[in-house]
Amino acid sequence: MPELPEVEYTARQLRATIVGATIRQAQVFWERTIGHPALPEFLAEIVQRNIEGVQRRGKFLLLELSGDMFLTIHRRMTGNLHILPPGWEIDTSLLQTDPVAWGTKGPIFKKTEADQDPAFDRSSSIYRGSLSYCRVCFDLTDGRRLLFTDPRKFGRIELWPRKLEEQAFAGLGVEPLSAEFTVEYLTQALAGLRSAIKQVLLAQEVVAGIGNIYADEALFQATIHPLRSANSLTSCEIQLLQQGIISVLMLGIEHGGTSFNDYRDLWGEAGDNYNHVHVYHQHGKPCERCGTTIERITLAQRSTHFCPNCQRLTSE
Ligand SMILES: [Zn+2]
Repeated sequence: MPELPEVEYTARQLRATIVGATIRQAQVFWERTIGHPALPEFLAEIVQRNIEGVQRRGKFLLLELSGDMFLTIHRRMTGNLHILPPGWEIDTSLLQTDPVAWGTKGPIFKKTEADQDPAFDRSSSIYRGSLSYCRVCFDLTDGRRLLFTDPRKFGRIELWPRKLEEQAFAGLGVEPLSAEFTVEYLTQALAGLRSAIKQVLLAQEVVAGIGNIYADEALFQATIHPLRSANSLTSCEIQLLQQGIISVLMLGIEHGGTSFNDYRDLWGEAGDNYNHVHVYHQHGKPCERCGTTIERITLAQRSTHFCPNCQRLTSE
């Protein structure tokens, strides 16, 4: 699942690519991808909106649109965004000929003219693989398209008026890379919480944008066992955790995100942070700090990786 670094990296790519473009129309190939408002309203409201900016909030991508509206994109498990240059047509005939296959694969993209875009040529083979499972397509007035592909179909796209921003992001905690994310804030936020610290990090309510990969990495960096109850952390540990969260997220962004399975950037490229993780999916390998074998346990139905020597459950 894309976490803060992957979403931030995509936001930066999008900012350099589509700010200033205008959405001519949206084509929705899987209705449930649109979470707000109802589909007919969504299709009517999105027309002729100018893309004025690209932001990120937690794991949400946020496109600022003209007329005081904004679009949120949450990729969940397998959602990805791609820019398609002009010169392609979308074949939707599968909807009539094989509705079951349509429900899985979505439309077929066909090239109509010679491709002039060097960025596209560079990764065209990846692109062809990525064009399946398109759920929503934004046609831009300049002929390009912004595609949302999502094999598992858990991703959601929503359109909101700016005045309802609080509602759109209800329950999201502070941004870990903002000035609000201080040791004092984290100390106060964890004080009343008895749940395991890893669960608290995943819940998004204290701090937004952290998922399974970066939670495991931050706890390893801070030498905190993932099952420790949040309110048991010492002030020294909270300080290490605050620093650990910031540093693993910054490193993730620097490396273009972590791709284990599905995450791809705007140009279909995998992120490089896979080569820089210390515990996530490293079970069975020796800890880089102490040589002890990294373990994997299940916590709240998620796999959790840690070093049993560096990250102790009880203090001695
Ligand atoms: Zn260790």
